Amino acid sequence: MRLSQYFIPTLKETPAEAQIASHRLMLRAGMVNQETSGIYTWLPLGLLVLEKIQKIVCEEQDRIGCHKVLMPTIQPAELWKKSGRYEAYGKEMLRITDRHDREMLYGPTNEEVITDVVAQYVKSYRALPLVLYQIQWKFRDEIRPRFGVMRGREFLMKDGYSFDLSSEAATETYKKIYESYLRTFRRMGLTAIPVRADTGAIGGNLSHEFQIVAPTGESTIYYDGHFESLSAEDMTFDVASKLYAAADEMHKVEECPLPVEQLKTARGIEIGHIFYFGTKYSEPLGAKVTTPDGQTIPLEMGSYGIGVSRLVGAIIEASHDDKGIIWPESVAPFKVGLINLKVGDAKVDALAEGLYNHLSTKDIEVLYDDRDERAGTKFADMDLIGLPWQIVLGNRTLDTGMVELKNRKTGEKVEIALEQVADKI
Ligand code: ATP
Ligand code: MG
Repeated sequence: MRLSQYFIPTLKETPAEAQIASHRLMLRAGMVNQETSGIYTWLPLGLLVLEKIQKIVCEEQDRIGCHKVLMPTIQPAELWKKSGRYEAYGKEMLRITDRHDREMLYGPTNEEVITDVVAQYVKSYRALPLVLYQIQWKFRDEIRPRFGVMRGREFLMKDGYSFDLSSEAATETYKKIYESYLRTFRRMGLTAIPVRADTGAIGGNLSHEFQIVAPTGESTIYYDGHFESLSAEDMTFDVASKLYAAADEMHKVEECPLPVEQLKTARGIEIGHIFYFGTKYSEPLGAKVTTPDGQTIPLEMGSYGIGVSRLVGAIIEASHDDKGIIWPESVAPFKVGLINLKVGDAKVDALAEGLYNHLSTKDIEVLYDDRDERAGTKFADMDLIGLPWQIVLGNRTLDTGMVELKNRKTGEKVEIALEQVADKI
């Protein structure tokens, strides 16, 4: 992509309304624009990251045999009256009336809709286990939308729903998804701590929140220091769920089994949340199947959320410095930023164009700064946008054939021959 032809409306000044780094940086890097409280337009750069996150989430869901669907954002109130949540959900639910005076709502979550679908089509234990998921916009009229996309009113969520015949089978599904969440977040460069959670408004039996440590997190988390020494392979349900970890009210000093020196306290950002809640929705919505011995019983269900749009902010909270964002490669909008310091010089332009085309043919995503701007502006913008690699090319390249390759994360710079830079990346 040529920056001169792209749309990245970066800001020089720090927007006054932004209280935390990720919000400030997303506005300054031209990733999102706020339309009204808690509601955002995703601009090209922000959307690229949002899409990379979605791709990782989908790959990991598909890997464990979940099937992707897409439910509507607008739902009939009727289903929620059946489950008993229409009144219970309160003011967070955006309620709408259509032209025929029928009550509708903008979905804050989708247990009712998916259970209704499964109730119609799944009649036998042979169809189980079944996990359906989607990535869809949700609306919750949060009392205090803040921190940009971290607590929006309209936000993008991956929500999955599991259906099993027995509570043992449902627990196995829960464990499998728990482990796949750890892998999903790891691929985004995040170490998530699964903390015991309150089963709250959804109600139920087993629940974990996935939290990442960040000073600006909204929760306080209390966890066993051993989490930090667990390797990726050790992070199984059986190992991790035996370590103590709890957030906020779930942590009771008198119940905490850990000696003080082993207990860590930090602020956490909740990026995912999973529940096992049995027959809470299958019973009232009639999702029942026949068992091998001919009985008819309600399905055992769980639900599994990932805050897809929140993750964009959360990843930035976990990875930035005073110059800007530092994207992990897996979610970076482009892998490389190519800076031409001599735009207008025919010879340098030719070298830069050549390298740009070469990188593109190698499927390396490159953002080419071909603008006629001062070097300082180019460096500052590239650091702000935070692509993992920067290649700088100028007059010296003509003399020596060398370019400068900078690693955004470490700040390390090396001189490297123009022909070798693609292989190095
Ligand atoms: P929170 O305690 O942060 O309000 P929640 O328990 O209400 O979260 P869930 O209903 O479990 O959240 O939703 C699944 C995931 O969706 C959460 O783990 C979070 O990452 C994300 N999420 C929830 N509310 C918002 C919001 N207002 N803006 C952005 N992401 C959100
Ligand atoms: Mg909430």
